[in-house]
Amino acid sequence: MILPKSNRLSPEQVAEITAVVAEFGCRIQPIVGAVRTIYAIVGDERDDLMINRLEGLAYVERIDRIQSPFKLMDKRSDLASHRITLGGITLGERLLVIAGPCTIDPKNPDYFYETAAAVKEAGANVIRGGVWKPRTNPYSFQGDTKSLEILIEGARRTGLPVDTEVMEEAHIQLALDAGVACLQVGARNALNYSLLRSIGRAVAQKPTAVLLKRSIHMGPVNEFISAAEYIAAFGNPNIILCPRGTSPAIDGYRNHPDESITPLLKEKTWAPVVVDPSHSVGKASYVPAAALAAVAYGADGLCLEAHVSPNHGIGDDPKQALTPEVLRQTIRQARQLWDLRRS
Ligand code: PEP
Ligand code: MN
Repeated sequence: MILPKSNRLSPEQVAEITAVVAEFGCRIQPIVGAVRTIYAIVGDERDDLMINRLEGLAYVERIDRIQSPFKLMDKRSDLASHRITLGGITLGERLLVIAGPCTIDPKNPDYFYETAAAVKEAGANVIRGGVWKPRTNPYSFQGDTKSLEILIEGARRTGLPVDTEVMEEAHIQLALDAGVACLQVGARNALNYSLLRSIGRAVAQKPTAVLLKRSIHMGPVNEFISAAEYIAAFGNPNIILCPRGTSPAIDGYRNHPDESITPLLKEKTWAPVVVDPSHSVGKASYVPAAALAAVAYGADGLCLEAHVSPNHGIGDDPKQALTPEVLRQTIRQARQLWDLRRS
């Protein structure tokens, strides 16, 4: 990783470092941070001769050689000072709440509009809504591209940004063109490296954020952070890690709750952690306690499923969605706990 003396290098300087690293089979990837642009050396950066030549350039402050499988997402990276802002919240400064239905019902758009208004009223900063859905049963409703319009109309009506899951390459551009502020990578795709690369390529140099769920079967936290590195390596460091429970489940819960990995993640990476307790415990009555546990563990935010009338929802909503009243109370208590942790 090349750290320049100035906030960014001139095109001539970029051309020069590109030419140097190319001699050693590497390429340069600029990563635009909030304060300065850094230049990742993509490839095997261990050659001392290459490093010496780069360090000899007058405009280079230093070369960071972090021995980490995720050198951009690593806490020791220069990107550690990068801050992600979403829904008017700078992560780390205030608790971010993403809330909304699991799945948008294209036949009943009013449920989404009413839910969007209600979650805003309850204190959420970003509205979520599933357009395309990963379903275990291939015969269940799989989502509908028509719901993208409904999602964006919900954003327009409330003035809040929206988050939605993209499951395949074709969804990425559709979502970005529509104005989705946060692309969600679902638990089933968190290890789909070709999708992660496509997302990285598509969001490079854009303000878009990516909410990366933890895979259902992900073990070591390094595996989770490395998945984030796949996206960051293309130049957009706005990646939020989202523990959402793993399998096998605890008997009675939908998954094995994993908000407790938050401190482990924070030891290794600077990336903010937004916990999804809805998919973790999988039942509305268990969600508020799990949400508070996540904040107690140090989460920077929560992603909560909510619906104005859960019984009339589709996807996970009948079992998992909080009513607006419970959502409001959960957000209020979570923010109190957040303040308590900081006091
Ligand atoms: C969802 O957010 O509705 C969803 C399907 O999440 P996950 O990928 O965590 O199962
Ligand atoms: Mn869901």
